[in-house]
Amino acid sequence: MEEPKGDHMLKRRDFLRKCGHAATLLPGAAASGALPEAPDPRLYHEPARDVPIEEPVDVVVCGAGPAGVSAAIAAGRMGAKVRLIDVNGCLGGIWTAGLLCWILDAQDKPGLMRELTERLDARGALFRATKLAYDPEVMKLLLEELCLDAGVKIRLHTRVVAAVRDDSNRLSLAVTESKSGRQAFGGSVFVDATGDGDLAALAGCGFDMGRPETGEVQPLSMIVLLTGVTREGIGPFVCGLPESESHAKAKKRLFDEMARAGIEPSYAHPSIFHIRDDFYCMMANHEYGVLATDADALTQATIRARAEVHSLVNHLKALGGPWKDMQLVASPEHIGIREGRRIHGRYTITAQDLIRGATHEDAVCKVRFPIDVHSTDPRQNRAIMDESVRAKPYDIPFRALLARDIDGLLLAGRCISGDFIAHSSYRVTGNAVPMGEAAGVAAALASKQRRLPQTLDWPTIAESIATLPQS
Ligand SMILES: Cc1cc2nc3c(=O)[nH]c(=O)nc-3n(C[C@H](O)[C@H](O)[C@H](O)COP(=O)(O)OP(=O)(O)OC[C@H]3O[C@@H](n4cnc5c(N)ncnc54)[C@H](O)[C@@H]3O)c2cc1C
Repeated sequence: MEEPKGDHMLKRRDFLRKCGHAATLLPGAAASGALPEAPDPRLYHEPARDVPIEEPVDVVVCGAGPAGVSAAIAAGRMGAKVRLIDVNGCLGGIWTAGLLCWILDAQDKPGLMRELTERLDARGALFRATKLAYDPEVMKLLLEELCLDAGVKIRLHTRVVAAVRDDSNRLSLAVTESKSGRQAFGGSVFVDATGDGDLAALAGCGFDMGRPETGEVQPLSMIVLLTGVTREGIGPFVCGLPESESHAKAKKRLFDEMARAGIEPSYAHPSIFHIRDDFYCMMANHEYGVLATDADALTQATIRARAEVHSLVNHLKALGGPWKDMQLVASPEHIGIREGRRIHGRYTITAQDLIRGATHEDAVCKVRFPIDVHSTDPRQNRAIMDESVRAKPYDIPFRALLARDIDGLLLAGRCISGDFIAHSSYRVTGNAVPMGEAAGVAAALASKQRRLPQTLDWPTIAESIATLPQS
């Protein structure tokens, strides 16, 4: 039997309301008797709501990895009121939640980078035997203490999910989701140190990701902590120890040892690094073709990677000998992400800058780390790609930290403005720290002087960095 039209309209409206689609009914539609256009069943129309705005501060730093904590500490030491927001349950990003354990390109970096290594050293948590290995657990505590000493208001377990700009194209709010619900954080100046450039992208800034020709990105990697083995037993397999002779030889021996155990790692240059005593970290996993902005792909990669690293350890253990008591102590809370969005800035660092060893008057720091592109195509190679480009030491200019498409936003860490090749070099944490420091100081100065960061002159920022007090 055919339903009378009026009932049908009621039921349909009821259904739409239950689904949250009530707002899609056009006011004139019911009166004219015409059926409203059917909503797309794959879309949920979110009703507007009021979001509480937390007490505004001078500087809001989103993301608390090496770049973000440095920005927050520096801005706090400049006397600014600072909020630091991170989705993880600890500060440090890849240093801690990612179990990196290894700082690259920190040599000759003054300021906060030197202070951090000295403080880790004083706590017996820095190991210079090979390069700069550190204890990630001590790092977690140290970063919290330094932020608190600098007066930084830390907010963990909180994800930035939206951004609001005002009528003058200035970033005015970072909107978050957490156990406390949806909240908005206002400030005079913002720093995006989320690694993936989430805040800038949410605010509508332009960005690039991956290779310009194909969009292919470098693989993710899961780093793990190992114990139960001794230097006497596995020294020749460990990168950086004299008995292994070279990184290349150590990696080749480990790859062959894994083959002897009947397993081939997804990263063809598997590496073990010594941290302290019988405490090691291993990087032997590559997850290819995963975008940092795809939560489903990230989830699948994390599950695959964890299964692989456990399997690699179990295979090595089964060989007996020096491996027999090896234990995987911890896998990271977050799989390591080499690259996400590269936000458009007021200067873009390019491969040409690396080739000519570019110098700049507004140099934040000198990068000495080479071009290091992990394979974007496992059919070609499952290790490092030869990009046929060699880098000379080059400067990161402050302009690469200034977002191009919105005012009041600075960038720090791996999301600054650069091309695919340049990013593969400047991304390491010895550079993320001075970038954060410069962004934090500039944000504090801009807030204090009620100016936009791009109107500050670099000598003033540089002088403030050089005279920044330690806690
Ligand atoms: C496998 C691997 C090995 C590496 N090896 C080395 C090495 O040996 N030495 C070295 O120095 N560097 C190494 N790097 C490179 C280096 O670790 C990164 O480039 C570095 O993480 C840059 O620091 P960052 O602060 O920009 O980003 P991250 O460390 O990624 O920090 C970003 C922070 O932002 C937070 N965040 C992200 N999105 C949001 C959001 N929406 N809301 C709130 N918080 C958010 C994250 O939780 C994280 O804490 C390696 C990287 C990887 C992946």
